[in-house]
Amino acid sequence: MVQLLSVFQIIVPTPYAVGPVNVYLIKSDPLTLIDAGPNNAKAAKVLEGMLTSLGINVKDIKRVVITHAHPDHSGLASDIARKSGATVLIHPWELKKMDKAADLMMERLPYAIEAGVPQTVIAEMYGERDKLPRPNVDNCKVEELTDDDKIEFAGGQLQVLHLPGHSPGHTCLYDPEQKTFFSGDFLLPHITPNPVIEPDPENPGKRLPTLKQYLNGLKKVDDLKISMVCPGHGGVFNDYRGAVNVARCHHDSQFKIILNKLNGKELSSYELSKEVYPNLHGWDIFLGLSEIQAHLDLLVEWGSVSFSKKNGVNYYHRDPHAAKVAPSDQ
Ligand SMILES: [Zn+2]
Ligand SMILES: [Zn+2]
Repeated sequence: MVQLLSVFQIIVPTPYAVGPVNVYLIKSDPLTLIDAGPNNAKAAKVLEGMLTSLGINVKDIKRVVITHAHPDHSGLASDIARKSGATVLIHPWELKKMDKAADLMMERLPYAIEAGVPQTVIAEMYGERDKLPRPNVDNCKVEELTDDDKIEFAGGQLQVLHLPGHSPGHTCLYDPEQKTFFSGDFLLPHITPNPVIEPDPENPGKRLPTLKQYLNGLKKVDDLKISMVCPGHGGVFNDYRGAVNVARCHHDSQFKIILNKLNGKELSSYELSKEVYPNLHGWDIFLGLSEIQAHLDLLVEWGSVSFSKKNGVNYYHRDPHAAKVAPSDQ
């Protein structure tokens, strides 16, 4: 007899623009959740209500696996763990972000300054604080997950895939028996994840090459055999190669847009992001900047674009002598 993992998708509301988040219940021993939802009463009520309708009391949960520390995915983990005694499983670099001592916004400030963001705009970006409490795993049992770890169940196994780019320790899970891929925010049905500007967890003075990491991750996913993607947002889907293609096309078109904007001009990443996304406000300005900076980093690596520093700000220009000018040359 072959035993398979039973998976249930629970759609949990969030107060964020992205809309609801998906929590997955693996109904096999030990009872496990993948992601937990945001930390507010409405989300907790929906999650616990859906668990009850599936015959599960929240106290029965034994493990909560967190794909990444963004509050829509991880906020309720500590609440569930405290109620149930469940162990939280998470990549060490995401765990680091949940540490009280980490100031995720301030540690990114030097990058906003070298991107040329004016003081008034920095004040606007940093004036918007999250509506919900910072996710934490205080007083919870925690187990660190790293690439290629296996999470064992009575009815099967999940393989851990470290796929950064959206978040440094972003973790996806793969069931090799049923070919199910729990993608978190790595692969989504309608949107491509933001390559958020992040310091390198092992060398905080340096910025992570987020888009390079992400595109490398897409290659890894291309090599998997997947029959169903269970994403962090939106419905489950089968056409993972289609989603990988959409993500690649999105980034190719961003490279072209940026190269066009730099025709005959020298611009800071902030000036470029204002040209590409003129109507952003609050923290969204930082996300728009992240998208542009991530593409610029790769264009610099490919030799299509160069930059020079003036008064602490990096200004980018197209390199007229570049052998490679378009990403399709790669
Ligand atoms: Zn996220
Ligand atoms: Zn998300």
